[in-house]
Amino acid sequence: MQSTMQDVPLTISRILRHGTRVHGTSRITTWAGEGEPHRTTFHETGARAAQLAHALRDELGVRPDDRVATLMWNNHQHVDAYFAIPSMGAVLHTLNLRLPPEQLVWIVNHAADRVILVDGTLLPLLAGLLPRLAPVEHIVVVGPGDASVLEGCAARVHDYDQLLADRPTSYDWPEVDERSAAAMCYTSGTTGDPKGVVFSHRSVYLHSMQVNMTESMGLTSGDTTLPVVPMFHVNAWGLPHAAFMTGVNLLMPDRFLQPGPLADMIAAERPTHSAAVPVIWQGLLAELAERPRDISSLRTVTIGGSACPPAMIEAFDELHGVRVCHAWGMTETSPLGTVAHPPGGLTAEEEWPYRISQGRFPAGVEARLAAPDGGFAPWDGTSAGELEVRGPWIAAAYFGGAGEEPLRPEDKFSPDGWLRTGDVGVITPEGYLTLTDRAKDVIKSGGEWISSVELENALMAHESVLEAAVVAVPDEKWGERPLAVVVPKEGEEPVGYEELCGFLGKTVARWQLPERWASVEAVPKTSVGKFDKKVLRAQYAAGELE
Ligand code: ADP
Repeated sequence: MQSTMQDVPLTISRILRHGTRVHGTSRITTWAGEGEPHRTTFHETGARAAQLAHALRDELGVRPDDRVATLMWNNHQHVDAYFAIPSMGAVLHTLNLRLPPEQLVWIVNHAADRVILVDGTLLPLLAGLLPRLAPVEHIVVVGPGDASVLEGCAARVHDYDQLLADRPTSYDWPEVDERSAAAMCYTSGTTGDPKGVVFSHRSVYLHSMQVNMTESMGLTSGDTTLPVVPMFHVNAWGLPHAAFMTGVNLLMPDRFLQPGPLADMIAAERPTHSAAVPVIWQGLLAELAERPRDISSLRTVTIGGSACPPAMIEAFDELHGVRVCHAWGMTETSPLGTVAHPPGGLTAEEEWPYRISQGRFPAGVEARLAAPDGGFAPWDGTSAGELEVRGPWIAAAYFGGAGEEPLRPEDKFSPDGWLRTGDVGVITPEGYLTLTDRAKDVIKSGGEWISSVELENALMAHESVLEAAVVAVPDEKWGERPLAVVVPKEGEEPVGYEELCGFLGKTVARWQLPERWASVEAVPKTSVGKFDKKVLRAQYAAGELE
C-alpha cells in the first residue's frame, strides 16, 4: 500500500532557504586575529550564495555535477560555498590544505575539479600545485592575497568579491534528486591512499538533523558554535548545515587555530559549543594553564576524530566546568557515528564509564561486530570484533573517478553492503561502543591482543606526560610488542621509564607493559591532527626512536 504523504526531496537548498528565511538574523562571525572580526548574518549569506551560484553558472560555466573545490579555512565565504555549490546542482569538494602536495595533486585530478575557490592566504600553496592540476579552468581568490603568484597559469583567475558584485541576490534553486551528489571529501589517508566519499543531499540533510538532536550535539537557536574542526574535515562534522537548520550562530576561527587565538576568541565571543580533535584541546588546556582566560561560556565541547583521553575530560570538568562529549565517526560516516551521552538519572560517578566510551549509536546507525571466527560478536560489553555499520548517512562505496564505476574494496565493504570501519571494539547491551584500537594498530603479542589506545590513555593520565602514542614493533619472541613514545609536559622534570611503567602497572596487566620507550618533543600528526602511527613505525624501523 502506498503512503499518502508528500515526497519532498531532502536537499541542501531547502536547508539554505529555511536558514536564510526563518533564522535570517543568526550570525556568522569570522575571527580576524588582531583585527575586528567579520560579522554577517544567515540572511546575507543566502544572498551571497545566490550571487556565487549566478557567477559560477553564468561567468564560469559551471554545470550540474561539476566539481567545484575549496581550498579554504573556516570563514563566512566558505559557508557561502557550502550552500551555493550543492544548491545549484554542482558538487562541493573541500580540499584538505594540510595534505602533502602530491596527495592534493592526485585528489584534484581524481575528482576532476573544474574550479577552485582559494583563500588569498593560501595562494602560495596553490601556486606550487597548479601546473599539475590539468582539469582546473578557474581559480577564484577569496580575500586579500598576492595573486601575482598565479601569473602565467593556464586557469582564469577571478576575485571573489568582484565576481559576485551586482549579481542577483536570489536564485531559482533547481529541484535536484535527493540521492545525487552534493559534496565530496577524501579521507585523510591515515591508513593508505586517500579515498573519495561522495555525500548526497539526502545524507547531508538526515545527518544534519541527527547533529542537532539532544542526544548528539543538541544545538538550538540560542547557541553559538565554534567549529575548530576544519571545514575540509568531513564537512566540519556537519555543523554549518546543522546550524542553518536550527539558527545556531557560527563563530568561525579562519586560520587562527593556535591555542592563544582560540582562547582569545572564546573569551571574547563566548560560544556555547565547540568541536575539534583531542590535539587541539590538549593545546588549549596547556595555554589556559599558562595564561588563564574565561571559557565558561562553553556548555559542551564535542571531541572526536581520535580517542579522547579520559584525563582530558576530567581536566575540562574540574578546571573549567566545561562538559566534554566524546564522539566517534569517520569520513565514511558523514561523520557522526556515536556520541557519548550517558543514560539519564545517574550520579556523576555512574556516568563516568559512559562518558569515556565512544558513545551510543543513534537510530540512523546500525552496528554489528564482525568476530574473528566469521560470525558476529554479541553486544555484551566484552566480546570484541571489527565494527561494521550501515545507515542513510554511511558510505556504500568510494568515488571511482570521473566516468568510472564506484569502488567497493572488500576490506572496506562487506558482501551485504555494510561499511567495515577498521575499528576494533566492544558494544554494551545498551548500545555503547568502546573502541580498543584500529585493526591496523592493535599490538599482537604472543597470540594476545594489546590495545594501544588503552596504554596511551593510561600514560596520558600521568601528570608529567603531555602526549603518549603506542605502536606495535616487531619482536623476535612475541611477534609484536608495544613501543611507548612519550612527550613530557613543558617545564616538568622528564619522568623515568621505570616510574611510568610503575604508574601503568596500576591499571594495566603486567604482560602488556612496554619494554621499549622513547621520548620525543612532539608525536607526529596527520593532516587532521591525529597521531601518525605510520610515521612512528617508520622512525622506529630507521632506528630513530631507540
Ligand atoms: P582518516 O581515516 O583518514 O584518519 P577519518 O577522520 O575518517 O580520517 O578517521 C576515522 C577514524 O578515526 C576512525 O575509523 C577511528 O579509527 C578514528 N576515530 C574517530 N573518532 C574516534 C574516537 N572517538 N575514538 C577513537 N578513534 C576514533
